[in-house]
Amino acid sequence: MRLFSVYQLRTKALVADARAAFQQKLEAWGQEFGGVWVPIDGQSLIYYFKGDAPQDALLRLSQWSEVITVVEESAPPFTVSEIANKQVSVKEAQFGAGAASIIAGPCSVEDYDSMLVIAQKLSALGVRALRAGAYKPRASPYAFQGLGIKGLEILSAVSKETGMAIVTEALDPRDIDLVAEHADILQIGSRNMSNSSLLKEVGKANMPVLLKRGMASTIKEFLYAAEYVAIGSCQDIILCERGLRHFDSEVRNILDLSAVALLKQKTGLPVIVDPSHGTGRADLVPSMMCAAAAAGADGFLVEVHDKPQQAWSDADQALSIDNFAQTLPKLNAVLSVFDKTSTPLLAK
Ligand code: PEP
Ligand code: MN
Repeated sequence: MRLFSVYQLRTKALVADARAAFQQKLEAWGQEFGGVWVPIDGQSLIYYFKGDAPQDALLRLSQWSEVITVVEESAPPFTVSEIANKQVSVKEAQFGAGAASIIAGPCSVEDYDSMLVIAQKLSALGVRALRAGAYKPRASPYAFQGLGIKGLEILSAVSKETGMAIVTEALDPRDIDLVAEHADILQIGSRNMSNSSLLKEVGKANMPVLLKRGMASTIKEFLYAAEYVAIGSCQDIILCERGLRHFDSEVRNILDLSAVALLKQKTGLPVIVDPSHGTGRADLVPSMMCAAAAAGADGFLVEVHDKPQQAWSDADQALSIDNFAQTLPKLNAVLSVFDKTSTPLLAK
């Protein structure tokens, strides 16, 4: 069953009397079948119906002499809007349905030693999901593109060592199987949110998917992207708000925290927030994590580095381990106000 169906009805240009008579007829129709008609201009009305609209009644309506068309508005993302109170649970990290977890780690996999040090320090703070990109979607083809397979192998080795769940990005449908062998959650980055071929393939991988919002995407486009993944038979989808393109060079992106509350009205999928790409500034990350928790976030994706200034990519937004650790008690305090259980629990 659909949550909502929406139709637009266009009428011929009617003189005042004919319009009044038509409206009376329509009201009687509405009383019989339910739903709400909302006029949008002289010749159009929108019909909102909670659930599946009565198709035969709509067909009958389209045959009225005053009516030009009755068309279904772009269909809402059915599958994702029907998913209720979903929890995505991977190893010891849980997202949604009252649980919030942190995914932390450097922007890119750099080498085994630094990855292990960062993972161990994060693990000691209670973080159970480790992030780092082996395939990096960079604006410049001359920037560091990631270590590729070597990066994936490093992530697997670090996961074996620490037991942490691995979150890493797949950029290309041809790499999905390989990335899936080394990851626990497949990440689809902001630049690929609209790549429907990639979304369809990732939805078939039988793996949890972390879907980041496109940097210039509407909420509806974001939900449609999730719909592509969901119809591939994957419902373990975590949505991630990561900031939108805008006009102020003070911050890299503008973090849309209203999206968190809004998405949670529209879907029961877990919604997490990435304040690192969302602001591009390490100094803003701690307060944005707390604000995201207050907005209802079911988790956080944060770039953390042992030596932030030496990070191979996104150095300006990498939190030091110390600053990350200092944020946890405040974050946990906010989460507990919203009755969320959190991983890490340590700093509670
Ligand atoms: C990332 O999380 O590694 C990343 C590249 O982020 P985004 O896709 O949001 O830019
Ligand atoms: Mn990054």
